[in-house]
Amino acid sequence: MLTPAERAHIGVIGGSGLYSLEGLEDVRELKAYTPYGEPSDNIVLGRLGGRVIAFLPRHGRGHRIPPHRVNYRANIWALKSLGVSWIISVSAVGSLTEEYRPGDLVVPDQFIDMTKGRDYTFFDGPTVAHVSMADPFCEHLRRELVSSAAGLGYRVHGSGTYVCIEGPRFSTRAESRLWRSWGAHVVGMTLVPEVNLACEAQICYAVLALVTDYDVWSERPVTAEEVTRTMAENTEKAKRVLSEVVRGLPERPDESACGCCSSLRTALI
Ligand SMILES: [Zn+2]
Repeated sequence: MLTPAERAHIGVIGGSGLYSLEGLEDVRELKAYTPYGEPSDNIVLGRLGGRVIAFLPRHGRGHRIPPHRVNYRANIWALKSLGVSWIISVSAVGSLTEEYRPGDLVVPDQFIDMTKGRDYTFFDGPTVAHVSMADPFCEHLRRELVSSAAGLGYRVHGSGTYVCIEGPRFSTRAESRLWRSWGAHVVGMTLVPEVNLACEAQICYAVLALVTDYDVWSERPVTAEEVTRTMAENTEKAKRVLSEVVRGLPERPDESACGCCSSLRTALI
């Protein structure tokens, strides 16, 4: 049994379809309170492959919380206070380009923020911080995700630009074509501000994005049944990749392998 004092190593934020993690041992569930209110759900703590995992379903179990209403600050604060120094975020996305097919996995290396009104920072004053987002994701974690997915034989793209839209509506065709013309590869609704808050919290963060369908630019009608089937298959893939990655990660990041944990050194004003 995990003791209350035990620190978690790795946070996993589950997206649409991923509301639990299999294979966790010594499981205990806790309710977290933060200065920003309550996280999306209770956090499930457990052991997997020698690491202590803190699992949080981003939309709550039963998918109660839409993307624009997720309390991202409470989620990241709660995971940080449990001691996590890695966060693997799982997210369903639409594809903006032919080569990123439904069923593919993507580990983005860049994003474009098209959200409109979220709580973007822990630094609302009087402390002011401008964190660098030139390379927004942890390179170490990205490499682990890509090699684990490839090792399992899945089609995985080791780079890509994720456009984060406000939602909850999907893009218009004109918007979808615009994202394409910008060179973006996938579109979703939940990356921002999760990624910037993780950076402010100096946590190594990367996304495993799961392509469910082509976005509306393709003018290829998809049935709800197709999307549901692809999502179910993607969720299985994500669980297997997570299980692999967790076993390969050191307990704590090596500062020489990435700059994530020192990102505030140059950011505070
Ligand atoms: Zn890192």
